[in-house]
Amino acid sequence: MTTNRRKFITGAAAASTAAGALGFPMIAKAQSPITWKMTSAYPKGAPFYMDGPGSATDLAKRIEAMSNGRLKIQVYGAGELIPALEGFDAVRAGTVEMNHANSYFWTGKTFAAQYFTAVPFGLNFQGINGWFYDGGGIALWNEVYAPFGMVAMPCGNTGVQMTGWFKKEIKSVADFKGLKMRIPGLAGKVYATLGVDVKLLPGGEIFPALERGVIDAAEFVGPYQDRRLGLQKAAKFYHTTGWHEPATVSELLINKAAWDKLPKDLQAIVENAAAACNVVSEGWCQKTNAEAMEDLVKNQGVTAKPLPDDVVKALREATNKVLAEAIAKDPVTKKVHDSYMAYKAKFDAWSKYSETPYHNKIQA
Ligand code: CA
Repeated sequence: MTTNRRKFITGAAAASTAAGALGFPMIAKAQSPITWKMTSAYPKGAPFYMDGPGSATDLAKRIEAMSNGRLKIQVYGAGELIPALEGFDAVRAGTVEMNHANSYFWTGKTFAAQYFTAVPFGLNFQGINGWFYDGGGIALWNEVYAPFGMVAMPCGNTGVQMTGWFKKEIKSVADFKGLKMRIPGLAGKVYATLGVDVKLLPGGEIFPALERGVIDAAEFVGPYQDRRLGLQKAAKFYHTTGWHEPATVSELLINKAAWDKLPKDLQAIVENAAAACNVVSEGWCQKTNAEAMEDLVKNQGVTAKPLPDDVVKALREATNKVLAEAIAKDPVTKKVHDSYMAYKAKFDAWSKYSETPYHNKIQA
């Protein structure tokens, strides 16, 4: 041990004794860990959401490791502490400090929440992150949640989802007429305008409903998650690139009073762990989806193809109408919509010089 180090330790011990003698147990207090609860909208063990790289469990591990145990997050799957979709109310009330889900579950509380998960024909993974981190997206997210006493940030992303599973191939818009389809959220509203009979079913009920013919089509996530539900056994047409969810964001929702009490370095740790999970989870989806899609097409008799161009055009026009109605009704949604679309216009213009030709001509 060097003389300097010995001097330092002796000095620190003396300071600690002095503080203790004066009744200020400063060192002990600074080291006591903070324990928070985090609920999820997804059940224990659910890949991507609860288990695996970038999941809720991984996020908690990263926060604990980076903070050297000063901030511990106890993770609860859906139904363990509260029902699946009660995270918004639980975080708002402070019953739990954090919830891990998707903001589009909260469109009944504030429609603007849709924009922080996925907008049909909206931004892809690169674009949405540009808007979040540099285009004012996260600041707007916090502004939307301020009246509810909460803050939020992205903490995961599935990448582009798939249009879904169909018993019969969709060849024209007329095929939507009377089609019974499991499709939640905004995309469901869009399909409904084209004659789809929209059904809302939780993940676990999709396969039996599709197999028995209670529904004719279903959207869930992408090849890896969909294969896990066995949807390829109940329908053979897999319409690919999802117009409805171009890069679906996982949300870390935090009680603002708890957040404001957190020391600044722990806030930075939470933000950095969430940003890491945002990237890592998307990478995991690319890998697992690539493997699953190859298996579905090669080994399981699945026909994977995009929707016809005129069908996509009709869906785009229907989406624009549904969004126009939503922003006409609510100034908060209009503010978020305007920011998102202004960013998207710039991103799309730049993409024409950068990523789009790369994908279409150079990489291909
Ligand atoms: Ca989906």
